[in-house]
Amino acid sequence: MIAILKKNADENAVAHLVSWIEKKGLTAHVSHGENETIIGLVGDTTKIDPFLLESMDIVQRVQRVSEPFKKANRKFHPADTVVDCGGVSIGGGNFQVIAGPCSVEGENLIRIARSVKAAGATMLRGGAYKPRTSPYAYQGMGERGLDLLCEARAETGLPIVTEIMDPRDVEAFLNRKIDVMQIGARNAQNFPLLKEVGRTRTPVLLKRGLAGTIDELLMAAEYIMSEGNDNVILCERGIRTFETRTRNTFDLNAVPVLHDLSHLPVVADPSHATGYTRYVAPMALAAVAAGADGLEIEVHDAPEKAWSDGAQALTPEQFSELMERIRVIRAAIAPAGDVTGSTEA
Ligand code: PEP
Ligand code: MN
Repeated sequence: MIAILKKNADENAVAHLVSWIEKKGLTAHVSHGENETIIGLVGDTTKIDPFLLESMDIVQRVQRVSEPFKKANRKFHPADTVVDCGGVSIGGGNFQVIAGPCSVEGENLIRIARSVKAAGATMLRGGAYKPRTSPYAYQGMGERGLDLLCEARAETGLPIVTEIMDPRDVEAFLNRKIDVMQIGARNAQNFPLLKEVGRTRTPVLLKRGLAGTIDELLMAAEYIMSEGNDNVILCERGIRTFETRTRNTFDLNAVPVLHDLSHLPVVADPSHATGYTRYVAPMALAAVAAGADGLEIEVHDAPEKAWSDGAQALTPEQFSELMERIRVIRAAIAPAGDVTGSTEA
């Protein structure tokens, strides 16, 4: 961390600031330039609040040199992390497609599971606990929904991905050996929940917050990892902007930026990012081309009857067609010499 001081900073005030920094257990390197005096803070800068430092009278500006996320940071872990999700690997060249309905609704789950598997999906999604804007909207089947997901897994062999909203439900998820716990956009900064899933070793699909920055997503990952769970998969699912033609604005920049900053796998969700069935396929393909390690896509066998998010669901036929095109894009972007595109999708 570097503090750039104001031009008129007097010697006594500088000495006072240096001793304040040293009392925090850091070393302060003062350097007097022709135009500016700067202080380099060396040591564990997590002990320093950069805003507090910047609010001090003699400080003009504070700049971070290293990012506050450590365990999620590619600098300290250059190789891609590969997360094992119930026998299916994601990251480091392993590409996976998670598909299924927004909500678990009943016995149609197994039909949808069979169809997405036949089309090439490698994991099944479905929400048993639904974070709805209205308390009067369908809230999910709860534990019965988890059981239906387990039955679909037993029949199809597809690992299951399902959202957890409450730290008190962790046990129910662990008892059923849920393969991937999803943390939804609305809980991206629910720190007690992040810590609780961090105490397990179950892979976590961590979605970006509704208005979350890339750094906030990485800090949320850091919460999970700081408790010991390194099995984190990041998910770009669109952010809220001034645009109203789509449900959210798909920030595809986030895919290469996250790969740059972090070793964790990056999944993209074009369903929630766009909100409309007709935009899901083009944006899914764009996310693959941008380098996503996987996709999460909502599929329903009767979207007009879906209990949630029918407007963005693909039919099994539309999904199957999309999978064909995903294979084409994967092959097109594969490194020279890799003719298969190394896709399992
Ligand atoms: C979901 O996956 O159904 C969901 C609610 O997603 P998000 O948290 O991204 O809105
Ligand atoms: Mn949904």
